[in-house]
Amino acid sequence: MARQLDPATRNALVERVRFYRDLGLTEFYRRPVDPALLAVELDEPQTSGAPSFPLASAEWVGDPGPHSDPMEDQPISPRKSISAPPEIAAGVPAADRAAALQMIRDEIGDCARCALHKGRNKLVFADGDPNARLMFVGEGPGADEDAQGLPFVGRAGQLLNNMIAAMGLKREQVYIANVVKCRPPGNRTPEPDEANTCMPFLFRQIDVVRPQVLVALGATAATYLLGHRQPLAGLRGRVHPFRGMQLIVTYHPAFLLRDPRQKKEAWADLQIAMKELGLSKAASSR
Ligand code: SF4
Repeated sequence: MARQLDPATRNALVERVRFYRDLGLTEFYRRPVDPALLAVELDEPQTSGAPSFPLASAEWVGDPGPHSDPMEDQPISPRKSISAPPEIAAGVPAADRAAALQMIRDEIGDCARCALHKGRNKLVFADGDPNARLMFVGEGPGADEDAQGLPFVGRAGQLLNNMIAAMGLKREQVYIANVVKCRPPGNRTPEPDEANTCMPFLFRQIDVVRPQVLVALGATAATYLLGHRQPLAGLRGRVHPFRGMQLIVTYHPAFLLRDPRQKKEAWADLQIAMKELGLSKAASSR
């Protein structure tokens, strides 16, 4: 019988999976577990130096039952297909971009096109300047974003604001959106069918704003923008031609909060974006 994990253990598992995913590790395999050994492992008090959660927990990757928690059901689904990006839409004059974005928002409406609408508090469309030269794309709303209806307003958002400021820009000068516009339960990674359903709206937003530089924050954003899976390490540190724009891939701010040592690498990526935008390092130090 499936065993419910306590919230702390479950969150630790989710964080660990996201950590691996941000490192570009997306293939996970289930190791057969002796139920007797698993019971002992779960019941034993943690000793110093022992892992704080059972890596081989059957509940983590176990068979989904009728009451299975989606976070425990294949947190990452590497074998499901990713939709190809749509044709590039015709350009929109700068003066009409705000209205064009509003039309997309109106078309989305009270969306129920994928399962994520069920747990949504507020749909998170985007934030920022419709004529921005720089756009950031993240994975999906978290709890704070879901409550406020705006992207990147929690702790990761604070760090993103700092990253933008370090580039010599203000948040109001950039455009920010996500792969999915509704919060996945427990902040899990969006399933491919959810992301594939929502991505056409994001591509339309990108084609309207038509930024000079687009920064993909994390592996999920990079995967669905580029249309194929590749470890983050193989995508970072260079410019990808993308729909007539320049795409740069870097770490998600939430990952940088978990592993601040990677901020230096992220800053190197942002400096590539700054170079493309003609922003000087002097501007960033003001
Ligand atoms: S995530 Fe996107 S497709 Fe799914 S319900 Fe929300 S707006 Fe609709």
